[in-house]
Amino acid sequence: TSVNSWETEWFEWRSRMTPDKTAVVDGYSGLSWSYRQLQERTEHLAAALRQWGISKGDRVALLAPNGLCYFELLFACARMGAVLVPLNWRLSGVELGYILDDCAYRLLFYHEELEALAQSVDPGRRISLQSDSYANAGTEGSVGTGEQTVQAPEAKDPLLMIYTGGTTGKPKGVVLSHLSVYANASNTVISWGLTDRDVTVTYLPMFHTGGINALSLPVLLAGGTVVVEREFKPERAVMLLELMQCSVVLMVPTMYHLLVQTQSYREASFRHMRAFISGGAPCPLTIYDAFAAKGLPFKEGYGMTEAGPNNFYIDPADALRKRGSVGRPMICNRIRIMRENGTQAAAGEVGEIQISGQHLFEAYWNNPKATAEACREGWFCTGDLGRYDDEGFYYIVGRKKEMIITGGENVYPLEVEHLLQQHPAVAEAAVIGLPHAKWGELVTAVIALRDGSHATSEELQAYCASRIGKYKVPKKILFVETLPKTPVGKIDKNGLVSAFSGLW
Ligand code: ATP
Ligand code: MG
Repeated sequence: TSVNSWETEWFEWRSRMTPDKTAVVDGYSGLSWSYRQLQERTEHLAAALRQWGISKGDRVALLAPNGLCYFELLFACARMGAVLVPLNWRLSGVELGYILDDCAYRLLFYHEELEALAQSVDPGRRISLQSDSYANAGTEGSVGTGEQTVQAPEAKDPLLMIYTGGTTGKPKGVVLSHLSVYANASNTVISWGLTDRDVTVTYLPMFHTGGINALSLPVLLAGGTVVVEREFKPERAVMLLELMQCSVVLMVPTMYHLLVQTQSYREASFRHMRAFISGGAPCPLTIYDAFAAKGLPFKEGYGMTEAGPNNFYIDPADALRKRGSVGRPMICNRIRIMRENGTQAAAGEVGEIQISGQHLFEAYWNNPKATAEACREGWFCTGDLGRYDDEGFYYIVGRKKEMIITGGENVYPLEVEHLLQQHPAVAEAAVIGLPHAKWGELVTAVIALRDGSHATSEELQAYCASRIGKYKVPKKILFVETLPKTPVGKIDKNGLVSAFSGLW
């Protein structure tokens, strides 16, 4: 028999260190498990997976709202070598059907609330998470006679396959090995200084890297407690963060935007909070202001499904001093900024962010072409633009694909968005390039105004013109009620471009 490598069984080691500590809490039902309980369920479930005919390398799909099932299934897969494929239940049947086809799964676990969706997309084998057979599997799955001969997974074997946000096209299956998951978690624990006193509440969807890899698994590696919530309601969030004595939390900018507007936010002390972290999409500077006004530690993280997702560290004092920076590379992460011509950019120069380290993904599933395009000699080409300053602090400039070329000039939408978001009448802003006969692309802003506020295109254009170069000022401004979001809560710029293309 082969000996498991520690990257595949770190949770077991952790549970031996802190068996009686609370590992996970379901904020919806109140159910909680200690490290020992979660480890025992994992062992039973791993045996049950084998009995259900799953063997090493098989994909096991999961269709469920945030819940403890994500942890027990992930660690069970880690134990017996299967690959967990968590699914975005906010997708349509057609979109989900595409992913299920693509990943060629052997078995689907689904939450009964999603039964209709599961039924509509799944011609194959499925098991309800609420069924007796699943419940029993978590408590009394037999060890199975073939245990001795089962080949243990190794560090570079796949463990988790997460589909990307699909912001720029069809979602791609990102294959993460045991090593990449472990490396991201341990780099994060070391760099962010997580300990067994940390508590986080997970609001981001756990089918996405932000809800599982970014903070939930690192907090478990550190021996802390993870509370999972099914949905984000700002008033309830303030109450729960206080009640659970949450010390570190990760949300997307849209959630912070809602959180800081509540009455309870203004009244709460967040005494235990060491860091509010924003990630997944650019964060408006007004949110920095809202936290600074209360003296609360706030910072931005940057990452992606393919690389961890975590890549940088900044401490709250630097976050204030270097507003908008994501910080310096975290431990064991190599970061470089590359020019178009393949040479390394100097301080201050904008170029593509490339990343290297053990936390990188193995490949895009079923897509060697995309893998070859994105991965070159151990470096992952993120498709994002960034720069660093003379102290080595990095700034995200935006996606390469979103850069607007207007009359031969490059416009980075994020710069213009940051500015517009600081206008008192603006609630949300997206800047896109729309095809235009004369300019190639026309800088267009799509704006949602704050309730009760008013501003005209001319006012907003004048506001921009006094602060940035003329060619960056939106030539057209469109007003909408709210900006459309992707299923993980990012502004859907592709949607905006296709909705408004042909306007000018
Ligand atoms: P797809 O790859 O399918 O188009 P996606 O890139 O949105 O979708 P994710 O892996 O969830 O899928 O998101 C990672 C991307 O989100 C990054 O590559 C970057 O473009 C953006 N992002 C993440 N954090 C930040 C941040 N702090 N500031 C700006 N952009 C960010
Ligand atoms: Mg991406």
